[in-house]
Formats: sequence, C-alpha cells, structure tokens
Amino acid sequence: MLRLTDYARVINKCSHCGYCQATCPVYLEDMLESHVARARLNLINAALIEKTMPVTPRVKEIVNRCLLCTNCTRNCSSMVPCDDIITAARIELAAESGAVDSLKKFVMRKVLNQRGLAGVLTKAGSVAQKLNITSMEMPTLASVTFDRQVSGTVAAQGEKRARVAYFVGCGTNFLFPDTGSAVVKVLAYNGVEVVIPAGIVCCGIPSLAEGDLEGAQESMRTNIEILAGLDVDAIVTDCTSCGMAFKTKAAKLYPENDPLQEKIKLVSEKFWEATDHLNNLGLAVEPGEMAGKFTYHEPCHRGWSLTVDEAPRRLLASIPGAELSEMEEPGRCCGAAGTFYLEHRELAEKIRSHKLEDIKETGAEKVVTQCPVCRFYLGVQLKEQKVMHPLGYLAAAYGL
Ligand code: SF4
Ligand code: SF4
Repeated sequence: MLRLTDYARVINKCSHCGYCQATCPVYLEDMLESHVARARLNLINAALIEKTMPVTPRVKEIVNRCLLCTNCTRNCSSMVPCDDIITAARIELAAESGAVDSLKKFVMRKVLNQRGLAGVLTKAGSVAQKLNITSMEMPTLASVTFDRQVSGTVAAQGEKRARVAYFVGCGTNFLFPDTGSAVVKVLAYNGVEVVIPAGIVCCGIPSLAEGDLEGAQESMRTNIEILAGLDVDAIVTDCTSCGMAFKTKAAKLYPENDPLQEKIKLVSEKFWEATDHLNNLGLAVEPGEMAGKFTYHEPCHRGWSLTVDEAPRRLLASIPGAELSEMEEPGRCCGAAGTFYLEHRELAEKIRSHKLEDIKETGAEKVVTQCPVCRFYLGVQLKEQKVMHPLGYLAAAYGL
C-alpha cells in the first residue's frame, strides 16, 4: 500500500548508482543533487521514516518539486519505486498537517469525482479564478462534455472483432471530447464494439499527486465496481496516466486483504491504451492517403505497457503519405504533469522549452501523444503545429 512504513525496507535498496539523475527533468533544470530521486529518498527516509531530522519547509519543497513523471522509477537499476515513495511521502505530509489545499480538494472531489453535478464546470471556473490561474494556463473547458455527447454502446461496423469498455478520463471528458469521438469512431470502424460505462469518475491520479489518498481511493473504488461487472474483452483508455492508474497504482491504494483487490486484478489485466489495443488487433480498414510529417511525444506515464509508445508509430506509419519525423528526445518530459505546471510555472516552462525546440527541429506539422495534459500544455505554445491524439490522426485519415 502507498504507506511510507511499507517502503521502509525497499527504500534502502537504492545503491546510489545515479542512473536516476540523467532522466530527472527537475534535476536537469535545477542541477541540484537534492532534486535527484536518490537524494529525495534519503531525505524522506530521514525525515519521515526514521524521523532523525525535522520536517522543515525545505523537506516539503523537495517532496513537492517533483513531476511524478516516473522517469526515475523506470530507469532505476535497483527497481526502487521512487515515484510511489514520493507519493507516499506527500500522503503522509498531507495527513500530518491537513495540508491538502481546500480549494484543490474541492476540484478533485467534486469536479473530477462527481461528473454529473449540475453546474460543476461553472464552479471549476470560479475556483480557477480564485487560484489566480490565467486563461492561457487554464485549458478551455468543452461546452458539451464527452459524457453528454456519447453514451451507451456503439456498434461495431462490419464484422465484430472485439467488444471493449472505454474508460473516458477527465482530460477527454472535460477538455477534449473530440478525442473521445475519434477513439469511438476509429474503434467502431475497425470492427470493435465500444461500451461507454455510465457513472465513471476520475482515475484518481490528480488526487494522489496532492497526497489525497482518500480521494483517490474513493474514485478508484467507484470505477472498479463498475468496470469489473462488464462483459468485455478489454478495457481501453486514450490517456496514459489513466492507464497507469489502473495498471500500476490501483492495487496500491488499498490494503492487500481488501476485498476490492480481486476486482482490481480483473480490471487491471484487461487495461490497454486504445492505440495500443488497436495496433495489437490490427487495422480492419486501410486508411486513406494523408500526406504530411508527424512527430510522436512519448508521455512519461508509459511504463505500464511495453508497447504503448511503439503503437502510435506503427499505426500511423500505415497511413499512405504520413511520414514520422522523430524528435531527438521523444521521451523527454514536457513539464505539464497534471497541475505541476501551475504551481511551478517557471520550472515547467523551462522543461517545456526543450521539448518545443525538439518538436520544431523535426519540421512536423502534427504532434501526436496520448496524454491530454501534454497536448494542452504543448498546444498552448505550438502555433504552427496541430497537437492531437494518435487516434484523432487516424480518424482524419479515415475521413471520419
Ligand atoms: S518522478 Fe520525475 S521529477 Fe520526480 S524525482 Fe523522479 S525523475 Fe525526478
Ligand atoms: S537509479 Fe535507483 S538505485 Fe540508482 S541512485 Fe537512483 S534511486 Fe538509487
């Protein structure tokens, strides 16, 4: 479980090799050893596990100045779950001080976890104003959310090849309903029956990042109870962070003996990113010609599938005329990380600047990526390139 006491032994597995240094976006900007995962772990161990030093404001800053990008975990030579330990530290700090900001808690619990509330979007706007978030940094909320556009079951076209449940994350529901439509259309066009379950809420990742374990538990429980009861071959999402939540975080939200664990296992085993799932299934219909260069930004939260970063490259390469122009560092973080970019604006902008340069160097007209927050944060600055989900790109090639 995401409790620091459960990590007391594993935290000492860190060999101080330093492999986590070269891929930490925060270290690469700050160039401070205290911001590398190994140093963060040492500090968490001393201040919060062994309690041999006080929890100073600097300790809190180091725990919070982290994107939870998972780069350190994915590159750790000793398989230390660094991002989980940092998350557990945030949970402990929040519990000790009641530090989860009440406005943020409102957004997480009410806006993300209770989608059906009337007028909730208006409330989100007023919260944004109170937080002094400018319009440029706050994405425009869709006038009609995805769950009000599409519901129920969308039939497969032609021969039915699979039946999937579509977990629609908050990014797609509130910000990019067009991505949701593209996913449904492309899947159905390729012989996949798509079930859009009613009552789905946030995956819980935003709550976890704030140290709000209870909020994450609440929303995950709701989702698992719904998804576990569906008769489907697979569960797909278009968001890599939502996928990570179900695949690698859900089981850690509850004690090992919690009765929900069995259902979590069932759901987690069926989880795929939609592009990845379609790539495995293979296209039933050849896409039409769509000449142009695209580049692919690998979202940080990709470690839960071995093929989630290969799938868009392969699928889109099958579009006649489409040319993949690779970035020098396609896996480098864009700096957004949920609400991190709002709270660490200067740092996030510095991290993003490398990505923007890299994108421009490719000469691509389109940037594809499966993370809605990356799409928003990059799109704010990219005026000449269109940023889209891979299945949005494929939908255009199909003329859907
Ligand atoms: S999760 Fe990302 S930002 Fe945080 S310490 Fe690890 S590599 Fe650095
Ligand atoms: S890569 Fe893992 S083992 Fe090596 S220093 Fe970083 S956290 Fe420690």
